[in-house]
Amino acid sequence: MPDPLSLNVQHLKASETVAISNEAKRRKAAGEDVLDLGVGEPDFDTPGPAAQAGVQAIQRGLTRYPPNVGIAELRAGIARQLSVMSGGRAVNADNIVISSGSKQSIFNACFTLFGPKERVLIPSPAWVSYPQIVHLTRAEPVLVPGDPEWGLKVSVRDLDRASHKLTRGIILCSPCNPTGAVYTLAELKAIAEWARSNDVWIISDEIYRRINYGPGPAPSLLDLPDELLERTVIIYGASKAYAMTGWRIGAALAPPHLVKAMAALQSHTTTGANHPAQWAAATAFTDDRVDAEVGRMVNAFRRRRDYLVDRFRSEVPGIEFVEPHGAFYFFFRVDGIRDSDPVTGQSFCEQLMNQEGVALVPGAAFADDRWVRLSYSVSDGELEKALDKILRLIRRLASARAA
Ligand code: PMP
Ligand code: GLU
Repeated sequence: MPDPLSLNVQHLKASETVAISNEAKRRKAAGEDVLDLGVGEPDFDTPGPAAQAGVQAIQRGLTRYPPNVGIAELRAGIARQLSVMSGGRAVNADNIVISSGSKQSIFNACFTLFGPKERVLIPSPAWVSYPQIVHLTRAEPVLVPGDPEWGLKVSVRDLDRASHKLTRGIILCSPCNPTGAVYTLAELKAIAEWARSNDVWIISDEIYRRINYGPGPAPSLLDLPDELLERTVIIYGASKAYAMTGWRIGAALAPPHLVKAMAALQSHTTTGANHPAQWAAATAFTDDRVDAEVGRMVNAFRRRRDYLVDRFRSEVPGIEFVEPHGAFYFFFRVDGIRDSDPVTGQSFCEQLMNQEGVALVPGAAFADDRWVRLSYSVSDGELEKALDKILRLIRRLASARAA
């Protein structure tokens, strides 16, 4: 018997999204023809000016420890961009901590805010890492199922039902991974008012904010008045809209006392985010050429989204899906494909991988295995090929019902 591990990791499971990505890469390396629509990672290269700024930082010898909270240029660049996206509201760069990916920003925020016996509400389906991170703080994650009639988003009524005197926080994600749903400003405002009147912190994960198919960036908590933002952490980062997943740069905007605690926490864990990568990201957030490139990438995601939705609507009209308004995820329901012996997300994805060589993520990873997540961050050609195979499997399973 191996020695038991600490209670800190009693609930810990490896990330399923990361595991599926690893498995798809392993199969590809072994020569298998695999289409990976599992992982949530843009298929584009990092925009040139940002990549060059990273290389130049290395060449200029900016390779020593960075300031613990992040370099001033990057904090200022993010503050400016958040301000511009929210109509010029004041955003103080001193309230931003740069971390090694927004995953670490979320961890820092949760670890400094939550603890044993406290509860954290997580609208579900939820990105795989939120419940795990909350468990690591020894608080209890409480999943709040979203309304299927409403893009699987939660309302104040849902939050009220799930709430308890020990509720300390809520983790919101909009545009949402895994559903692609986007909360309207009115919906965010209602949740922020609810949180304020219940003394609950909001961690608002806005990493996909720029990948929004409505006009401009998606609505943000930062579009709300100051008095609703006293207990709020905004999570932002370079990975998704800037195609910079491997650079590992994320950010949290928080009240000063929390900034201090998060900085102290990472002074003992990572010291700070990779120094040259911070220079690359500083350029990403401030350079007009990169900005134009982000616009082109969002247009490509929009085109793929339209193509995908059209094909699902016309070829398998009975299949329910969440109307995707942002991010690059498409969430469709598989349990109704046949009446007897309902299909699960796990079995659908296994068959799809084994019979068709396409990787998707079962809804089980997001706490609801009636669904499957498809990430359309692949080329148009790969998307077309993968869709042929996915729709073929859906038809095959559906006709097995009729037989
Ligand atoms: N939040 C959400 C909703 C995500 O999908 C991801 C994807 N990895 C992250 C945070 C973390 O991203 P990163 O650590 O690369 O900034
Ligand atoms: N967030 C992405 C996803 O959901 C990347 C993998 C991960 O970090 O979970 O697929």
